[in-house]
Amino acid sequence: MSLSTKELFRDNSYLKTCEATVTHIDERGVQFDQSICYPHGGGQLGDHGHAILGNGIKLAITDTQKDRESGEQIHIIESPTLSVGDKVTLEVDWERRYSLMRFHTCLHLLCAIIDAPVNGGSIQLDRARLDFDLKDPLDKEELTTRLNAHIESDAAISTRWIEDAEFDAQPELVRTMSVKPPRNAQGTVRLVEIDGIDLQACGGTHVASTKEIGAMLVRKIENKGKQNRRITVVAAS
Ligand SMILES: [Zn+2]
Repeated sequence: MSLSTKELFRDNSYLKTCEATVTHIDERGVQFDQSICYPHGGGQLGDHGHAILGNGIKLAITDTQKDRESGEQIHIIESPTLSVGDKVTLEVDWERRYSLMRFHTCLHLLCAIIDAPVNGGSIQLDRARLDFDLKDPLDKEELTTRLNAHIESDAAISTRWIEDAEFDAQPELVRTMSVKPPRNAQGTVRLVEIDGIDLQACGGTHVASTKEIGAMLVRKIENKGKQNRRITVVAAS
């Protein structure tokens, strides 16, 4: 068990590189004192990228994960020739991450439009989906129109941390029953607000304004069980 990794992406999801020191290595992968790489969780894929050594050699980070039990952030690095104490520059695969950020933020807009609890979801590189606990039928065209109206409104997105007790008093801040709220060791929970549209607890990475999401299309709505509507969105162009 190493010291926990400082998660720089939580307060600034636009960081593309950072300096980092190796703190622990084992069969699961490599840990650093700080990182810009998002670990797979909350429906969002883990980041890819590189760890660049002082001599310029680039080691591929093929995934970033979070240990389910300890919560440690693990970087999967091919042929790790690293040792504890080594200093590297971490670089995130930005094109991939930015796509995930756009889809992730788009799902928050979908949450704001559909007034029903979320059963689960997934964010891929070319699509994202949410499952709603809902019986009523939904209309693809109408959802697409409403979604793009929010995107066009260019609403600002911000994050803040609130105390556990304040959070526990507002159960409406939890939308996805299957995802644990993003609490940290300081006894606070992270909230993500889309100005005037949505406020919920979330630990993922988001864009800074809704316009960055780009035009989206609700591609399909599937009935997955009696009371489960699965909505898949893709980029419109
Ligand atoms: Zn989120």
